[in-house]
Amino acid sequence: MAAIGLIGHLPSVIRHLSRPLSLRCLITAGPTREFFDPVRFISNPSTGKMGFALAAAAQQAGWTVDLVSGPVALAEPAGVMVYPVVTAAEMHRQTDALFGPCDVLIMTAAVSDWRPKTAEPQKLKKDGQGLTIELEPVPDIVTALAEERRTDQFLVGFAAETENVEANALDKLERKGLDLIAANSVAGPAGAFGADDNRLILLGRDGFREVLGPAPKAEIARGLIAVIARLVAARHA
Ligand code: C5P
Repeated sequence: MAAIGLIGHLPSVIRHLSRPLSLRCLITAGPTREFFDPVRFISNPSTGKMGFALAAAAQQAGWTVDLVSGPVALAEPAGVMVYPVVTAAEMHRQTDALFGPCDVLIMTAAVSDWRPKTAEPQKLKKDGQGLTIELEPVPDIVTALAEERRTDQFLVGFAAETENVEANALDKLERKGLDLIAANSVAGPAGAFGADDNRLILLGRDGFREVLGPAPKAEIARGLIAVIARLVAARHA
């Protein structure tokens, strides 16, 4: 009886096995802005191109994609739910709210590492003097999410480095509780911020290492989504 039952289900089993994994993916992109008065803020040169390219590539791979983005000047990828945010605190709240049902988190956002300790309610008047702004650290979003993760969730971080790229990225992989980190160099004029091309060194647990590019960010994005799909499938094998 059991054998007959299994044979009866074979077509759907084969269909299921041959179908690409359909995953729910949460991606963060772009910079954050940390204001010290209503019109002035601390930020960084991230343009969001890599995160948006990843969202498009994941959507084209058949995944369901939520994209939490800081302020960028990019068109929304078709078929992707975009959640615009401005500050790291807003990004944290929005990402946390969407994290539960996601299978894969990809943190490409260049979240500000510091923010002004206080923000003036009115525009500061210049008086010919210098200005000292006291900064406080911004809580790490992905570290906090890694602490509440389920073991079946796959967490990918990005490491934008100006020196010792691999060593610094490996340190972040461990410290932040990630499954995979994509390291790129942002040193010099050919650095990744705002560029159309990129080169990623992917570093995972158990010595996993793979290099993507140099290539246009759209191509790198398709490559990274394929690698994640492979690593997630291997986990479920
Ligand atoms: O800024 P850092 O190099 O530490 O960023 C590495 C990874 O950590 C990136 O994936 C980034 O999105 C994430 N990050 C975060 N929360 C922060 C700072 C960075 O999740 N406050």
